[in-house]
Amino acid sequence: MAREVDLFVIGAGSGGVRAARVASSHGARVMIAEEYRVGGTCVIRGCVPKKLLVYASRFGDEFEDAAGYGWTVGERAFDWPTLIANKDREIARLEAAYIANLERAKVEIVKSRAVIENTHHVRLTATGETVRAKYILVATGGRPHHGADIAGLDCVISSNEVFDLKEFPRRILIQGGGYIAVEFAGIFNGLGSEVTLVYRGDNILRGFDDDLRAHLRTEMEKRGIRIVTRQTVTGVERMEAGLCVRLSDNEQHTVDQVLFATGRKPNSQGIGLETAGVKLAPDGAIVIDGFSQTSVPHIYAIGDVTNRINLTPVAIREGHAFADTVFGGRPIKVDHTDVPTAVFSEPECGVIGLTEAQARAEFNRVDIYKSSFRPMKATLSGRDTRSFFKLVVDGTTGHVLGCHIVGPDAGEMIQLIGIAIKMNATKADFDRVMAVHPTAAEELVTMREKAASYVREAAE
Ligand code: NDP
Repeated sequence: MAREVDLFVIGAGSGGVRAARVASSHGARVMIAEEYRVGGTCVIRGCVPKKLLVYASRFGDEFEDAAGYGWTVGERAFDWPTLIANKDREIARLEAAYIANLERAKVEIVKSRAVIENTHHVRLTATGETVRAKYILVATGGRPHHGADIAGLDCVISSNEVFDLKEFPRRILIQGGGYIAVEFAGIFNGLGSEVTLVYRGDNILRGFDDDLRAHLRTEMEKRGIRIVTRQTVTGVERMEAGLCVRLSDNEQHTVDQVLFATGRKPNSQGIGLETAGVKLAPDGAIVIDGFSQTSVPHIYAIGDVTNRINLTPVAIREGHAFADTVFGGRPIKVDHTDVPTAVFSEPECGVIGLTEAQARAEFNRVDIYKSSFRPMKATLSGRDTRSFFKLVVDGTTGHVLGCHIVGPDAGEMIQLIGIAIKMNATKADFDRVMAVHPTAAEELVTMREKAASYVREAAE
């Protein structure tokens, strides 16, 4: 007789764990399967270890900047194995905390790959056991995708391996212009590597506001990161001097590591979704409705495997909403609009809402406020860097439609601005707030002059 549960969760990442715990708190018998490590991409090889590496990479600037403030900093040395060992210890601690929280919530954890055998049965490949589940939640996340099948792909690493490199790469070439590429360009540059970023388009961070993209690129280049646009990597070869990377214009680079950060694909293959009749989109994402329900009524899916907005807090919200909807008797649709996000590049970016281009395509009148200035700390340190703030405003109603920041603590700022924007704040509301002086954030409430004002031509 197969064991029976109310909910079987496939994947113990941030979203799956939240769903399991909340469903259990609503009285469901819950089992969660994980084939790798509890915590998923975010905790094990994503957001959390990445932020630790970002912290590590920023000390170099601090040591340099200290001189302008009267400090003499002694000899400095950086040891990559120490950083990685300490990071590993912290990740192990977090994984243990995730496990303990699941156990406390009375969720049964199985360390196995789980495959849907038929609509209500899941097979654990580690033991061969089959479990019958009233509901199944697929929360299997995404996996790195390297793009075209070029020569030498076996020499290329993804963001999965970058966290466990045995040796620090003195020279690294990163392909991609998204979150991971710009974040790791900043990390390795800060830690002392020679960094080349190769991107196929015109400028990094496609989809972000154009002014923000231009500003960040300038700042990254000022820090010595070489950004090569309109090129792709066409081949990699292992040579005695290192990895020889050939680009589409035939330029060659010899480096110690090649990191591809060319996006992620929904992790939807080999888990029996087709057998169960679950509909997939052409990109492999599980097709869901507003309640995360798939084409099979008792199978749900959340997080990156559904390719909505691939961010940890979004997956957590989706997991929580699923559990409340199905087991808590409280149907909840997650609001995917105006999701704030940070890119932990150097300097950091924080954004929410519409870009200028999106606003101008959608609204009749759009006002733009922007400001670029030298952060106060850079005055005495002499560091050549500028921060950037931009507000995109509906010129008819005054509502702030978007906010785009590049500079220290942009991630922290955008979280708070997110509250105002979700409350439909207007530019006048921003202006009513007294400035906190001297801060960088005061720029948000002191930008009085429009940088530009656009009126959409009436359609013929
Ligand atoms: P992104 O989708 O952000 O970026 C992928 C990049 O790779 C783009 O610049 C894309 O170019 C380029 N690319 C895609 N395919 C190819 C190809 N075949 N050849 C050359 N270049 C290619 O993905 P990432 O891998 O950076 O990150 C994955 C996801 O993880 C992000 O979308 C984000 O949701 C999440 N994430 C969030 C973070 C955060 O919140 N701070 C941090 C890290 C990741 P193009 O623009 O032309 O399509």
